Amino acid sequence: MIPNGVYGHQSARVLPASCPQFFSKAEGAYLWDVDGRKYLDFMCGYGPNLLGYCDPRVDDAAAAQMKIGDTMTGPSPIMVDLAETLVAMVGHADWAMLCKNGTDATTMAMSTARAQTGNRRILIAAGAYHGSAPWCTPVPNGTVPEDRAHHRQYVYNDVASLEAAVAEAGDDLAAIFASPFKHDAFADQELPDPAYARRCRELCDETGAMLIVDDVRAGFRLARDCSWSLIGVEPDLSCWGKSFANGHPISALLGNDRCKAGAEAIYATGSFWLSAAPMAAALATLKIIQETDYLEHCVTLGDRLRTGFAEAAKANGFSMRQSGPVQMPQILFEDDPDFRIGYAWADEMLKRGVYIHPWHNMFLCAAMIEADIDFAISSANAALANVKSNIDELQPHPFVVQLMGASG
Ligand code: PMP
Repeated sequence: MIPNGVYGHQSARVLPASCPQFFSKAEGAYLWDVDGRKYLDFMCGYGPNLLGYCDPRVDDAAAAQMKIGDTMTGPSPIMVDLAETLVAMVGHADWAMLCKNGTDATTMAMSTARAQTGNRRILIAAGAYHGSAPWCTPVPNGTVPEDRAHHRQYVYNDVASLEAAVAEAGDDLAAIFASPFKHDAFADQELPDPAYARRCRELCDETGAMLIVDDVRAGFRLARDCSWSLIGVEPDLSCWGKSFANGHPISALLGNDRCKAGAEAIYATGSFWLSAAPMAAALATLKIIQETDYLEHCVTLGDRLRTGFAEAAKANGFSMRQSGPVQMPQILFEDDPDFRIGYAWADEMLKRGVYIHPWHNMFLCAAMIEADIDFAISSANAALANVKSNIDELQPHPFVVQLMGASG
């Protein structure tokens, strides 16, 4: 009934053998699959679960709005409350536009930058993920080269490659796209070098181009402001999605007055973009973001997890590479070029009821408690001991074989 089964990265075909495809329910930090197995979930829906699944403080607000009116012939006035709240929280922003998915926000950011500058060229870091539209999908099947004819790549954190791409764009530069930190699949994460981030800003100021920070994945997981506020660099546009309504479907493009005319000029809309219930959920989530220690709690637990996993790896003779912010960990292994160790360890963790990922960054949520982290650490010890004892029998996962074949 569904072409090739579940599509995208949530297809069980690309995941370890023990990964369930379908889930029956979720609550707090836990998921249940359709066979009734329970998992401590370190994927958090690939980001949307910030506070805990089915948080009643958020879901009650959404349900109350559903009773009043959700998808109507026009928006509820809470749209304005939400725009004001986002603008008040995010330092660089003077305005907000609401949409549904992260890809809507990144696509609107690109269009806004082009409408504002009248230029075509967009610079994107090699390997960065900005969504699944034809201009940014990592799998080009069904797209044409013209979809990204005016895109050029630079290397994240590499000022020389950025400067070369800007110089090559000449007077046709519309925007530099930047991830808040390097969070590419299959790779160690890298925090932004402040010199690189500052150079992005300077180059945009010199050329009149727009600086876009894609905070879809990291938004409100590093800061209660745009992630680059932590290094003192303000973009012109920032893209938000995933977490700010704790799982309810809404995303946003925020911008400053430098590109407001561009945002006013583009045509962007969708049947569900103005629905009110996700906006109510977002307002409730943003209140919790402002008023609680959800972020510090996730960092404390993330530190505990990283230390415990490092000890478990060492005790079992593995060289585990843990990178990125502790609340958004990426875990890879040394001497594991085809990720067979990564898949095997994720598989063993899944069998023990801990949902982790072999090559994508993970997420902690505020519903986790110390006992959850300790359960994950003791599971890691048992999982790694099992992987060690079978190390000679491990095979690369078919998806990785296919991927490596495709990339030569
Ligand atoms: N940008 C980043 C950094 C993302 O991580 C994602 C989604 N993983 C997107 C954009 C696209 O968001 P969505 O899947 O909601 O369209």
